Amino acid sequence: MSLARLSSITYITTLNLLNLMPMDIIHFSHLKEVQSLDKMIKKHLDTIEGETSRKTQILKLRTRRETEKESLLIELNENTALISEGEKSLFDWDKKLAKANEQLPLAVSEQQVVGLQKEKDLSEENVEKLQDKVLSLLEVQEQIEEKIEECASFLLGSASTLKKIEEEILEVTTAEQREIDNYESRIKVLLEEVPEPLNSEFKKAWKKHRFKSPLSRVMEGGCEKCRFLLDRTTQSRIELLQTIEICSQCERLLIPYNA
Ligand SMILES: [Zn+2]
Repeated sequence: MSLARLSSITYITTLNLLNLMPMDIIHFSHLKEVQSLDKMIKKHLDTIEGETSRKTQILKLRTRRETEKESLLIELNENTALISEGEKSLFDWDKKLAKANEQLPLAVSEQQVVGLQKEKDLSEENVEKLQDKVLSLLEVQEQIEEKIEECASFLLGSASTLKKIEEEILEVTTAEQREIDNYESRIKVLLEEVPEPLNSEFKKAWKKHRFKSPLSRVMEGGCEKCRFLLDRTTQSRIELLQTIEICSQCERLLIPYNA
């Protein structure tokens, strides 16, 4: 037990002895109400979060498509360069083929005919290969352009969906926040009625266990939530509102069973 805890309990005990004990069972009822109102707040916060996550989802998809589009554009540029390179080679081999065809009938020796024929065959072979290559590169180009188009249309469509969702989020959030504000003002009123040091001790447990029951009843000789066992004296002092105890295991505020 910390020194601060010890001194606050001693303080309570002293007050109790002087019959000035400011605690009443009603204060624990207030705290229980605070706890359940706070649970309602959680429901509204979850609704807001659910709504907001739709937007996060779309933003994620958009980022993925934007990245995809960027790499497709790089791919497109690379493919364009390959096409122009292929077309240039094709043009060169076409020229060589035309030259061979032009010179072949003018050949004056058997050796020259063989040489030119070889040149013609090689040129024909390369022209054919390059034509196929350029053709398949053009097909790839078309596929890349189609994918880019798909990305662009998704980005355009999702931009308007996003706008619509943002409007819906604003509407839902405003309504939910109004509910939350109501609960919060009720909580504020209730807490104003809870005296110190109970008030501060509750707030400590509340901070640690918000939305996860900061209060725990004394049940079967211990803390209902974590089952930590208490000695008989502490148990009965809690029941008689003679002490304020925080469970030393789970750090929840321990409250009388019938609070
Ligand atoms: Zn506990």
